[in-house]
Amino acid sequence: MILGEVNVKTYLSKSKLPGVDYTINPYVGCPHKCVYCYAEYMKKFTAHPEPWGEFLDVRRCPVPLRPYLLFHTHVMLSSVTDAYNPYEKEFRLTRKLMEQLVFCQAHVQMLTKSPLIVRDIDLFKKLPSFEGALSFSSAQESFRQLAEPCAGTVQEKLNALKTLKENGLSTAVVIAPIFPQITDWKEIIALTRPYTDRYHFDALNMRPAYQKRVMVFISLYFPQYLELYSSIYEQQDLSYWRRLQEEINDFCQREHIQGRADFKHVFSARRSPEDLE
Ligand code: SF4
Repeated sequence: MILGEVNVKTYLSKSKLPGVDYTINPYVGCPHKCVYCYAEYMKKFTAHPEPWGEFLDVRRCPVPLRPYLLFHTHVMLSSVTDAYNPYEKEFRLTRKLMEQLVFCQAHVQMLTKSPLIVRDIDLFKKLPSFEGALSFSSAQESFRQLAEPCAGTVQEKLNALKTLKENGLSTAVVIAPIFPQITDWKEIIALTRPYTDRYHFDALNMRPAYQKRVMVFISLYFPQYLELYSSIYEQQDLSYWRRLQEEINDFCQREHIQGRADFKHVFSARRSPEDLE
């Protein structure tokens, strides 16, 4: 892993996500190396020749977060990195930012695939509101190892959710990305429901930059689904997602689960990866 530093004028990015005022990405790059990583486009803003996943820059900013700007705003960490990547143990930058967010009294939503989130529970409790969201593309550890080789294990993420809940914090599970025929979303719900307040669902949304990599992944490990993936992603057959969206929403309603699937963006040419910020 190539470690570096970059100086920035601010940690804050104005967000286009619904209900989020700002996003904060403490790092550039992400060592979790998810095969479907949608944030890879960030590499073009760096001078790194290394592939995405092989470098991590710590963002340094001399200006602290200001309460006059952030008081009771909604801030999300993180959209194009994981704020609790393994190197955060050493750099403690996310923790320093959380201390500033406590000072600013911002509402915080944390999205991560790492059990390191529990380290900062003492700070989360001092915020006006906090939601810890753990993301799962599968409940199967064998799949997690293939698709998200350097992120937290399924069991570690379950333990993290449980610990957040036991500490009286709001929790969410992001079932994403849903890999057609592979992600058993009902299994993820069954495992996580005792510790989860609400669910988000997102489809595997392939952009040209990483579609080839994901299709190679499918052909290597799940060749039996190659035809289906080809019909969805190459021939752009939306019927799979329409059926799945209906099935998930019926299930959530029937089981009184707070959460809705909305996959209309899957093939939207207008949605660029930058919209995730
Ligand atoms: S955790 Fe998120 S940003 Fe990091 S590699 Fe995985 S998808 Fe990309």
